[in-house]
Amino acid sequence: MRLVILGAPGSGKGTQAARLKAALGVPHISTGDLLRAAVAAGTPLGLKAKAVMEAGHLVSDDIVLGMLEQRLAQPDVRTGFILDGYPRNLEQVRALDALLARMRQPLDAVVKLRVPSDVIIARTELRHKAEGRADDDPATVRKRLEVYAEQTAPVAEHYTRAGILRLVDGVGALDEVFARIMAALGAARAAVSR
Ligand code: AMP
Repeated sequence: MRLVILGAPGSGKGTQAARLKAALGVPHISTGDLLRAAVAAGTPLGLKAKAVMEAGHLVSDDIVLGMLEQRLAQPDVRTGFILDGYPRNLEQVRALDALLARMRQPLDAVVKLRVPSDVIIARTELRHKAEGRADDDPATVRKRLEVYAEQTAPVAEHYTRAGILRLVDGVGALDEVFARIMAALGAARAAVSR
């Protein structure tokens, strides 16, 4: 199954994607994780991305697409994937559509987690304390939410028009939200296994 999970920073998409990975038996590909690994390894790409990420802005489309293309070329992707953090703007939507068309592997579904901003702010504050992610400090979270509203919200509209968007309420316990996602994927999963 080929799936995109969308949602604002702190909406729980990374956590839910990790669960979906186990339930669906497909790899979880997070462009944020790929970028953080490049930053930690101090690669030239990581050095370029670091300041941009810490300011809460989007890393350039070319850099992220290059990383994603490499990842999608790995053999484990044959069974499908859960893409988390990509696409983040309409240019990335076009790039992903073109890439998946070339691979003859179109998306089966796009799940959008809906979480109100006050819940997002509370969750990212907790994550900032627990994990110390530089871009989870309150001022940077506000910037990331702005970027999300301006650039990433239209991504969901695109997939609504394509008829594959599933809206899921992202407020509640992890297990509850996970059950809602699995229920929302019901029809898409049945179609894939036919
Ligand atoms: P995330 O872990 O998905 O919240 O991503 C953390 C940060 O990595 C974002 O705030 C961006 O700076 C960068 N990033 C992750 N995915 C993308 C993407 N698809 N395009 C541009 N920047 C990204």
